[in-house]
Formats: sequence, structure tokens, C-alpha cells
Amino acid sequence: MKLYSTLDRKIVDIVPIKQGELSIYSCGPTVYFRMHLGNLRAYVNWDILHRALLYLGYDVKRVMNITDVGHMSSTDDFGSDFGEDKMDKQAIQEGIQPIDIANKYTDTVLDDFRSLNILAPNGSEIPKDLTHENIQEYGWSRATEYIQQIIDIVKKIEANGYTYETKQAVYFDVTKIPEYTIFTGQQLSEKEIGVREEVEVDDEKKNPADFVLWMKRVGKYKDHIMNWPSPWGDGFPGWHIECTAMGTSILGEHFDIHTGGIDHIPVHHTNERAQNIGTFGHPVVKYWIHNEWLLNKDEDKLSKSKGGAYTLPEIILLGFDPLDVRYFFVSINYKTKVKFSLEALEGAKNSRLSLLRRVQELGKKQGTVIPEYVERFKHELENNLNMSGVLALINELLKSNNPKENILSTIYDFDKVLRLNLNSEIVKEENVDSEIEGILKQREEARLNKNFLESDRLRDLILSKGYKVLDTPNGQTLEKI
Ligand SMILES: [Zn+2]
Repeated sequence: MKLYSTLDRKIVDIVPIKQGELSIYSCGPTVYFRMHLGNLRAYVNWDILHRALLYLGYDVKRVMNITDVGHMSSTDDFGSDFGEDKMDKQAIQEGIQPIDIANKYTDTVLDDFRSLNILAPNGSEIPKDLTHENIQEYGWSRATEYIQQIIDIVKKIEANGYTYETKQAVYFDVTKIPEYTIFTGQQLSEKEIGVREEVEVDDEKKNPADFVLWMKRVGKYKDHIMNWPSPWGDGFPGWHIECTAMGTSILGEHFDIHTGGIDHIPVHHTNERAQNIGTFGHPVVKYWIHNEWLLNKDEDKLSKSKGGAYTLPEIILLGFDPLDVRYFFVSINYKTKVKFSLEALEGAKNSRLSLLRRVQELGKKQGTVIPEYVERFKHELENNLNMSGVLALINELLKSNNPKENILSTIYDFDKVLRLNLNSEIVKEENVDSEIEGILKQREEARLNKNFLESDRLRDLILSKGYKVLDTPNGQTLEKI
């Protein structure tokens, strides 16, 4: 398998630590809001990687964290630790407890992942009834359930001499790691960003780039809702230490791949790597792999503040199917910057439906997979997930002179990785029995009246009768499951 390694700054051969096995830690969502398409891209990209590795015969050991404490509103962009805790802030805004915010938005993550055919980190499909209560069994880890491991890791880093304590926090002293800025190649002095505010908050902080491992429940955070006892006083962990603690306590102190968005490179992953060295004396992660952003029309990162950042339910209301979104992400390589627009999504939708139609025209009879195409498919996947190559190969296969039933079986085989439900049928409405037609009419009315609760209920009712409703600009269409 070849992938783009951020530290090597090139595409490299992935050589597993244990032959035939790949351990992967994926930075997961901070659960205080409904993710938008810009956030979701990463998870579809890494789902393709996960499914491709399974297809290629690797034994995949994967973990994804759920951050439910300690992620400061300023941490991403400036590397400043003294913002507002995203969870606490949202809890106050919604008038409920942070734990309820975490549970609520963990459930929306599961909904979105399910709709996008994203595998659970443990490699199973996400069951329909899975909620935040049972996610641990499926390979997710919640930061608040790893507080003891986090404290133990901070103690190790402290014992190894990489920390110092102020009245407000325990810091990691970045000057103790000579290669601290290895990801960006910047000088430490260039990294002094967003720091003036912090000097005001904590005048005992030594270097601007030092970051918080444990924040004490004092000063600005004296009322912080989530807090735990620790050797340094009551408080809560910094965001970066959570990933080091969860990654190494589950996957061990050597693992193969760490994934994340490119926005994680300068701060989050730089700090995570420093912590790994501070704890274990070596960098822990063999390959850091990052996905590019989805851009808006002004070529800025797609974000809530800059517009264009639709959530999946919003996209569905606009008449798209979640699989149109999946197709859009599947058709581009994770290292490609892509501009997102509704027109582009419309294009993905048309391509998906046309592919579905062509597959449907092959009939229902299945034959055997065609080894030559399977080999070429594997080759495209191994080539840094060359998805445009995969789509071209499928096009060639559909046009080939092979027996139809063998083409069909080969396409179904490829769909284990693409997961575009290529075995589903587009059904014309006149073929559907009158009961379902009646429900469809009711649903159309509900949607006209903007009664989306009712519309969703009717959608589920139709689903229970074996059909999936697609909302298209020309009205509702059905797909047989
Ligand atoms: Zn992380």
C-alpha cells in the first residue's frame, strides 16, 4: 500500500509494524455540534482507506476518539489553550449539561456515519440502533472515559522531565524536543502565534508554544463544569493529551497510521508527537496521513463561519441522497483540495445515478468475479487510493465484452470498498404498490407543509416496507433495498 506520508513529504510504501496487520488511530469529532460536509469529508476518506485495507486482506486495528472535554475554541487555529471549552460553551447555550451535549452530538455523528455507509472503527457496519451508550464496543473511545490513562501519561511526561507546573496548569515544555516543529519545518520563533492573550492569562508560562496537558480549575476555569481530581489539583485535560493517551493505551506505544485533517498538522499533531516522545522516548506513530480540505467558492476552508457548510440533513432537504455526498468524496483523492458547491454535488448525484442505472441494466444474474479486473482494482487502491483510476476502471469494465453476470459480480465486489449500494435498484413509481404510493403522497404533503418530523416518520415507514426514498429536484424516487 502506498500513501502520502506528511512527515516524509511524499508518497511512501506503508510497511506494517506487524506483517499483515495495520493499526490506525483516527482523530475523531469533538461532539458539540452537528458536523458539516467539510468535517465529514475526512471520515469518508478514511472509510475508503479502511475498506480498501480490508479488501486488500489486512487485519485492521482501528480506533477513533470522541472528544468530549478540553477542546478549546481557539486551539485549532492559533494553538492557544485559553479559549472557551467547546463542550461547556455549547452546554451553557443549550441549557443542558456538557455530558448531554456530548451524548446528543455523538448520536448525530452515528446518524451521519450510518447514512454515509461509514464503517465503525472496529470494522463492522454501524447497526441501526447503535447510540452513544454502546460505542466503545465498536471501536470508539471517549476522552472522559480515559481520564485515568490521561493522568498516568501526564505523570510519565512529568517524570521524564518535559513539563512544568504553574498556578493555572501543567505545561509541556516544547524547547525540550529539538525536532518539535518537524511537521512544518518552521522555526519555533515563527510559531509564536495567538499568544499575547495567554501571557495575560498565565504570566508563569515559559515559552509561547508550550501547551497545556492539565488545566486546573482555577482562574478563568474556576467554574468549569467537567472536572476531575488529579495530582495537580481538580481540573481537566488538554485536547492533545487525550489523543496520546487513548491512542497508546489502546494500540500500544508503536502503531502504524495516524489520520487527521491537514488543519491538525501545525498544532494538534505537532503537540501529540511531542507528547509521544515525552512519554515513551520515541515518536510512537510510523505514518501520519492527512486529508485536504473541502473549499468554498472563495477557495477558503469550508466552515460554519464562512458559509456553504451544509449538514447532511440540510443536504437531504435539498433533494440529495447521502450517497451523492459519498460519491462526491469517493471520486476524489484525500490529498486533493476540492471546491464544494451544490452544482458539484448535483454532478456527483448524476454520475451516481447513471452508474446505478448501468449496473441495473446488467440484470440480476450473478456470475464470478473477473480476476484481471480485481487485480487492477487492487493496484489502483494500493496506488495511494487512486479513486479516479478506480472509476475509470469501472467504466472500462462496464463497456467490456465480458459476460454480463461476471461484470455484475465484479462490480458488487468493488462495492465492498466504494459502498455506493450499487446493488440497489432504482424503481419507477408506477411499479410500486398502491399502499406505498399513498404513503409517498402523504409524505410529499408533509414536506410541502415543512413538517419534517412527519416526513421522516413516513420515510422510515417506507423503509420498513423495503424501499428507500430519494428526494430529488424532480420529486421523490424509490430505491428497492
Ligand atoms: Zn486527535
